[in-house]
Amino acid sequence: MKDEKSLQASLLFYNERMSQRKILVHTCCAPDGAYVLRLLKENFEPTAFFYNPNIYPPEEYNLRFQEMQKVANWLNIPLIEEVPDFDRWFQLTEELKDEPEMGRRCDLCYAIRLEKTAQKALAQGFPFFTTVMSISPWKKSQTLNFLGEELARKYGINFLSADFKKKDGFAKSVLLSRELGLYRQDYCGCLYSYKERQRKKAKQGGN
Ligand code: SF4
Repeated sequence: MKDEKSLQASLLFYNERMSQRKILVHTCCAPDGAYVLRLLKENFEPTAFFYNPNIYPPEEYNLRFQEMQKVANWLNIPLIEEVPDFDRWFQLTEELKDEPEMGRRCDLCYAIRLEKTAQKALAQGFPFFTTVMSISPWKKSQTLNFLGEELARKYGINFLSADFKKKDGFAKSVLLSRELGLYRQDYCGCLYSYKERQRKKAKQGGN
């Protein structure tokens, strides 16, 4: 009886310790996710969370999600897809449609995706959440970390602040995505960044 009780206590302790290592990781695309999730796996039990209502057009969304599934299978980690509410994203960002990339529209876009991640983490009992987005040189790590910390306070959970592009993180992620043969998009994701990319391509073609 005594042995059984001590076994139960040990299991309880083990489960508590293990649950402390669970982290919900917002993931925007496979190339960024592969490197960061592999890194996080060294110290955490990551679950990838694909919530990206910003991605345009729907075919691109499907392609990025399929690539993410490949990464989750490769790393043998769970992947959760949250239904993308495209219309809501467009409504919320409409006023900021003329902002440049890395401007105020992007801040709002980060906030929309991080808040959903925090809500999901709370609902599913993850003690930590974070995002892979700081791996990109075109994303503002300081803003991402500020928003993450604010949301952590609001929802009473922990945000893992990071700047994954440091220590050659971005270069390593490019290399890894090549090795894995992953699709690498040439625009950030939304309609506005898509149009901007098309404009630049047309300009280059005209030269
Ligand atoms: S450029 Fe990227 S981060 Fe900025 S609003 Fe568009 S999808 Fe979001």
